[in-house]
Amino acid sequence: MRAFQFVEWQQPGVLRDVPVPEPGPGEVLIKVGGAGACHSDLHVLESPPDTTAFTLPFTLGHENAGWVETMGPGATGFSPGDPVVVYGPWGCGLCMNCRQGMENYCQTPGKPSPGGLGGTDGGMAEYLLVPSTRYLIPLGDLDPRDAAPLTDAGLTSFHAVKRSVHLLGPGSTAVVIGAGGLGQMAIQVLKALCSATTVVAVDTSDDKLEIAKTLGADEALLSGDGAIKRIKDITKGHGAEVVLDFVAVNPTLTMAAQVARVLGHITIIGVGGAALPVNFHSPPNECSVAAPFWGSIPELIEVIDLAQSGKIKMLVEHFPLDDAAHAYHLLHEGKIHGRAVITPND
Ligand code: NAD
Ligand code: ZN
Ligand code: ZN
Repeated sequence: MRAFQFVEWQQPGVLRDVPVPEPGPGEVLIKVGGAGACHSDLHVLESPPDTTAFTLPFTLGHENAGWVETMGPGATGFSPGDPVVVYGPWGCGLCMNCRQGMENYCQTPGKPSPGGLGGTDGGMAEYLLVPSTRYLIPLGDLDPRDAAPLTDAGLTSFHAVKRSVHLLGPGSTAVVIGAGGLGQMAIQVLKALCSATTVVAVDTSDDKLEIAKTLGADEALLSGDGAIKRIKDITKGHGAEVVLDFVAVNPTLTMAAQVARVLGHITIIGVGGAALPVNFHSPPNECSVAAPFWGSIPELIEVIDLAQSGKIKMLVEHFPLDDAAHAYHLLHEGKIHGRAVITPND
């Protein structure tokens, strides 16, 4: 089969011929409907050699959905043809965090080993080998070609909102910095879970701000001093309860510290790599700063429920496997409106 692989550090991925995997005991082979192109892939592809422990080559694509093709010996609970999404961070399944469904925080050394993001093969290929049925969530009527980004853009944003939901009552404000694939999902999740919260989107792109408004953002502001002043005005000078930074470069982290309030939350989801100084004077007193990674299996079930009820929807652009490199190029250029999804079997 053909697979879009990361072969050499700081080089674009390439299409290669690889064998179709055989599912072993407990494993499942998925016929891939869609595999989302996440900005994290670009961070990995652009890394200098030896800055990660990953072994090359591996197939990209850590946001995956498709149909069950073959169940390995002893694997039960699904049948060939079932539409499913694939939970991405694969842990040991046995440690305390895994047993609570948080395989993203597996405590076993070397885990999680997500397919498509860290040396293990992902879904930008005709077939994807999934290590266990516990990573499959039934999709119902949703099309796998559109649902794939729910597994990361959806799940990561959902988790980031949910951990702060107790701060987001009536009169509260949440700021979403970076209204790309993840930020667009965060805006919709905020509207779905915290209907009385004012949602402010901040981006450097007018296009993304227009999309943010159509997705329910109450305010859409160009990044800069004007945005900081406007957020202060909206919050009567107190700042926002929650600031979600989906970029995490120096200007966005500086802004996050300036627009968050006392006792608020700054959540760093972006992998821009900048650091946020924390001392007595900044961020505001008792404002917590956290950098979550992905989300849990139960949260993915909630994300799929939200999508099935029509409350969240990813803006998706489909690309054939032949055009995967082009899709990443467009993502790099900021020219993907929502999420690029590679559809290897179309
Ligand atoms: P994306 O390219 O789709 O969106 C990024 C958005 O940020 C774009 O709309 C862009 O215009 C905007 N932007 C860029 N610079 C900005 C600035 N200075 N101020 C305001 N907006 C700015 O990317 P994505 O796939 O949504 O990923 C976003 C980030 O989240 C990436 O860094 C990615 O690696 C990271 N990520 C983290 C996790 C996690 O578990 N923590 C999971 C997935 C992705
Ligand atoms: Zn990702
Ligand atoms: Zn574990």
